[in-house]
Amino acid sequence: MINKQEIIDRFVSYVTIDSESDPNSNATPSTEKQWDMAKKLEQELREMGLEEVSIDKHAYVMATLPSNVEHKVPAIGFISHFDTSPDFTGKDIKPQITENYDGKDIVLNQEQNIILSPDYFEDLLLYKGQTLITTDGTTLLGADDKAGITEIMSAVKYLLAHPEIKHGPIKIGFTPDEEIGRGAHKFDVEKFGAEWAYTMDGSRVGELEYENFNAAGATVKVKGKIVHPGSAKGKMVNSQYIAQEFINSLPKLETPEHTDGRQGFFHLTQINGKVEETKLQYIIRDHDKEHFEARKEMMRDLAKEINKQRGEEAIEIEIKDQYFNMREKVEPVMHIVDIAEEAMKELNIKPIIKPIRGGTDGSQLSFMGLPCPNIFAGGHNFHGRYEFVAAESMVKATQVIVKIAELTAKKYK
Ligand SMILES: [Zn+2]
Repeated sequence: MINKQEIIDRFVSYVTIDSESDPNSNATPSTEKQWDMAKKLEQELREMGLEEVSIDKHAYVMATLPSNVEHKVPAIGFISHFDTSPDFTGKDIKPQITENYDGKDIVLNQEQNIILSPDYFEDLLLYKGQTLITTDGTTLLGADDKAGITEIMSAVKYLLAHPEIKHGPIKIGFTPDEEIGRGAHKFDVEKFGAEWAYTMDGSRVGELEYENFNAAGATVKVKGKIVHPGSAKGKMVNSQYIAQEFINSLPKLETPEHTDGRQGFFHLTQINGKVEETKLQYIIRDHDKEHFEARKEMMRDLAKEINKQRGEEAIEIEIKDQYFNMREKVEPVMHIVDIAEEAMKELNIKPIIKPIRGGTDGSQLSFMGLPCPNIFAGGHNFHGRYEFVAAESMVKATQVIVKIAELTAKKYK
C-alpha cells in the first residue's frame, strides 16, 4: 500500500520551500529561490538511486528509473513543475491538516477570519471523511504543482520497493517557471528520452486531459491627436473613443464570463489610455483551430474597417500566437490516453475527460515532439489562499502513475 502519512510528510517538505516564479524576469529559472527546490529534488532522486540524475543550468531536473523487464518497452515520462504562481504569495507557507473532514467550514485563520466553506467551494464535499491539507489563509498552498511532484516521487519510491511490479524505463522531469508560461521553453525533449509523457498537473481525482486552448495575444494600439481642449474643435482625436468603438464591436457574449466547455473567447485584459494613445491588451482563446484563426481575422478586419471609415491608420494591431491545442499531436497516438484511462478504471477511479480551458506545459511539449496529456494531481482552488488538496487524492494519483507504468510494460510484451 502507498503510505498516506509518508505522502503528507513529503508534500509538506516541498510546499514549505518558497519557489514562486516571476513573470518580470527574463532569466530561467525566473527566480533564484527555485534552485532550492531543484537542488532538493536532484538530491532526493540521487538518494533513491535513480540513474542519469541531472540538473541543468536552467534548473530542469531529470532522472531515469530503469526498466526491470527483459522485453523492450517504450520509455514514458512523468513531469511536474516546482514553481508556484506569482498571483499570490508562496512565502512562509504553513500547511494546516484537517483529518476526517466533517463537511463543514474550515477556519483557515481565526485572527483574520478567513474561512474555507463548502457553501462557496462545493468541491470540498467530495472529500468528506478524508484528510485535507489547506493553507493558514495568508499564502497559497502550492499543491499546484508540488502535489504532482510528491506523487511522482512517491510512485518512483514505491516501484523501487516493489520489484515484482514490472515496468519499462520511467523518465522523471521537474521544471521551473510553468506558472509564467515558460515551463517547457528550455525543456530538452531529446535528452529526456521518453516516447510520451504525462504532466501531473490537473485538479480533481479522475481528470485526464489532452485538449487545451489555441492561444494568442493581441496588442491593439490606437492613435489620437492631442490639442488644447479649449481650441480642439475639428482637431482633437481622442484615441480612447476609438478604442471604445473597437471594444464594443467585438461579440459581447464571447468573453470568459459568458463561455464554458468548448466555447472560445476574446478577453480584454488591460486598457491603458489617454487622448493621444490607447493600448488594449487581449487574449484570444479557442479549442477549434479554424475558429481560432477566424477570431484573429475578425480582430484584424475590425481594425481595418475602423481605419477605413476614419480615412487614417488610427489602429495598429499585432497578434502573436502563444500555444496550440495539443489534441492535434495526441490524437495520432491515442493509446497514450487510453492507457491512462485504463489505469484509472482498474483503480476504480472514474476518468473525467474534458478540454482544458487554458494551456499546460504538456501542450507545448506535445508540439516539441513529446506528446503529453495531463493527469489530475488532486488540488483545488489554485493560485490563492483557498487552495487545498486531499491526501487521499495524492495517494490515488500515485497509484495511477504506478499503474500506467505497469500497463505500459504489459502492453508491449
Ligand atoms: Zn500547475
